[in-house]
Amino acid sequence: MRILVSGGAGYIGSHTTLQLIAAGHDAVIADDFSRSKRSVIPRLEALAARPIEVRVVDLTDRAATDALLESAGFDAVIHFAGLKAVGESVSKPLDYYRVNLGSTLSLLAAMARQGVPSIVFSSSATVYGEHAPVPMEEDFPTSATNPYGWTKVMQEQVLRDAAVADPSLRVALLRYFNPVGAHRSGTIGEDPSGIPNNLMPLLAQVAVGRRDKLLIYGDDYPTPDGTGRRDYLHVEDLAAGHVAALDRIAGSATQVSTWNLGTGTPTSVKEMVDAFSRACGHELSVEVAPRRSGDIAESYADPSRAEAELGWRATRTIDEMCADTWRWQSNNPDGYPV
Ligand code: UDP
Repeated sequence: MRILVSGGAGYIGSHTTLQLIAAGHDAVIADDFSRSKRSVIPRLEALAARPIEVRVVDLTDRAATDALLESAGFDAVIHFAGLKAVGESVSKPLDYYRVNLGSTLSLLAAMARQGVPSIVFSSSATVYGEHAPVPMEEDFPTSATNPYGWTKVMQEQVLRDAAVADPSLRVALLRYFNPVGAHRSGTIGEDPSGIPNNLMPLLAQVAVGRRDKLLIYGDDYPTPDGTGRRDYLHVEDLAAGHVAALDRIAGSATQVSTWNLGTGTPTSVKEMVDAFSRACGHELSVEVAPRRSGDIAESYADPSRAEAELGWRATRTIDEMCADTWRWQSNNPDGYPV
């Protein structure tokens, strides 16, 4: 298939692009490089051992998105592009609604115009909201606690409604739990712009000396060691989930499919700190701080639907996730060059 990968220069998009190429697909990256770096492209080309077509496009621009899809012969879109920093979404909600919803609306309109039948969407376990029991199942109700989360809830709804109106449209809503890790080569990985929000890039930056210590946000949760538990999955497992979903929805009788992508096994903050210390070979400085507002005690998937319907399972261990993150971070202490 010829696939448009929006946000293909980003963390999950770049790993998925490589796996699409390895699976024999033709992947075209569309990215505005507002939160990613151009230097990722030659690295991807080196790993893929072939040139990769890249289009620099702002997907909120309807005319530019139409032009991108026009006569390009795409069979599917994988839509990663978007803003994803929870804290920033609280201070800049309008940017989040404009960019995240706007890009999805332009892509769907352009897809309808060009007759592109399939879209795989980068959703998040954040759509289960604050009060979901664990493990989380796809049929649970959705809600959110911040504008970023609402954009995911709303984008899912837009995609469902578009499918009702167009019986030829096929949609996969992939709800990611906590993606971490990096390609084994250590040449591509997660490079958040500004101060990271997530545990793994923060741990990696402490390990490499870019920050003094990790703050553990709360050790009084109702969990075995008192720290929050999450379902971390290796980005390479996550990328494989996209390839499987794309194959599954093409020509499927089901119009909209929703799949959790997680391991089903939670790991606490303290367990992650210990695992990362083993990976980098030294102790990491930590300090217990108050809970972070909006955090929940536990989030982990029931991944059985993805296993049954996609034949997909996350197989890489926490130690592999930490070792691969460390290889990337220690080879690239400041992330990608410009
Ligand atoms: N966390 C932490 N210190 C940090 C960042 C995160 O203790 O500096 C904790 C956070 O409270 C949560 C877990 O690590 O229990 C994962 O947080 P992250 O932001 O990576 O993922 P999310 O909470 O969005 O699932």
